Amino acid sequence: MIKLTDLVDNLPSSVPFVGPEAQERERKRKFIARIGANENVFGPSPNVLEGIRKVSSDIWMYADPENYELREALARHNNVDFANIVIGEGIDGLLGYLCRMFITPEVSVVTSKGAYPTFNYHVSGFGGNLRLVPYKNDFEDVDGLIREAEKFKASIIYIANPDNPMGSFHSKKVIEDMVASLPSHTLLCLDEAYLDFVQKSDVPVIDPESSQVIRMRTFSKAYGLAGARVGYAIGPKRIIKAFDKIRNHFGINKVSQHAAKLALEDQAYLKSVVRQVSQARDEISRIATNCGLKAIPSAANFVAVDCGKDSSFAKAILTGLIREDIFVRMPFVMPQNRCIRISVGKPEDLAILAQVLPRVVKNCTG
Ligand SMILES: *Cc1c(COP(=O)(O)O)cnc(C)c1O
Repeated sequence: MIKLTDLVDNLPSSVPFVGPEAQERERKRKFIARIGANENVFGPSPNVLEGIRKVSSDIWMYADPENYELREALARHNNVDFANIVIGEGIDGLLGYLCRMFITPEVSVVTSKGAYPTFNYHVSGFGGNLRLVPYKNDFEDVDGLIREAEKFKASIIYIANPDNPMGSFHSKKVIEDMVASLPSHTLLCLDEAYLDFVQKSDVPVIDPESSQVIRMRTFSKAYGLAGARVGYAIGPKRIIKAFDKIRNHFGINKVSQHAAKLALEDQAYLKSVVRQVSQARDEISRIATNCGLKAIPSAANFVAVDCGKDSSFAKAILTGLIREDIFVRMPFVMPQNRCIRISVGKPEDLAILAQVLPRVVKNCTG
């Protein structure tokens, strides 16, 4: 038998995400509302869909391995240098590359207990040591993360802002102060998957050449291109350049590169999506409140709904919704797992939720 590396051999088999498709296969039934994976139900701009149709006949060609046009557009959009941008197969792909560049079995990294799991998954895949800091009042605990990084001489702190799964958002000032107080040996990986839902004036200002910060962004959420797999990072030239040594150069296909560029160019559409998302969040809060549950304020395209009891109560509500063909998810560690997480849906999705949730909650309350 050909031997796996000890590292891989000893990893537990883990599936960080069970997709709604797998659940549908298992249930032998389709979902009627897909509001569990924080996708953008409104989809991409009509210009993007038109562009995808046009470019699809070029699919026989390899895409530009330098992602030149998209990279240039992103540099302009973010007012940074071309050399400060790297494109990857979603933030998830970029997190893997980041871990590959910084993690060995001697290295410690710090993240929050119950935060977005993909980072942890890659850290384990490269044999690194994860240090977990509990959330504080449903926020990732910035001071706690820094203290832990000092204590364990951590190479990376990972934080998502806005946070997933809670939707909480640290102000510009909190993040800027965090950057200023990083231990000298620590890189901050700032996952900004949901930043496009936040007002421009609330976006932290960070020098792209700051040697200790890498920011991750994506086309999967506000731009409505989760299936295209395009993300990017903004960071200091030294680190960005290093990605070229290890990344999958043909990872972003031709259609995706083009779609992302067109999406970026339609900022008016993005604005309209952000408006619809904000209305839908209010509607989810209203529906939850009507059922005696508590919506936690969210800066993203989902709402964590505090079910008010323990995790088994939240799980019962989740199971009830899934049984009624509504796809939702929930946080998986205490104390966040007293909540369920409902992604923004179209008005028709939320109408179904409004109909079903009161019944489900009533059944669970007994
Ligand atoms: C959805 C999500 C991602 C995934 O982004 P992709 O670009 O689709 O890989 C990354 N980070 C957080 C916090 C997310 O919620």
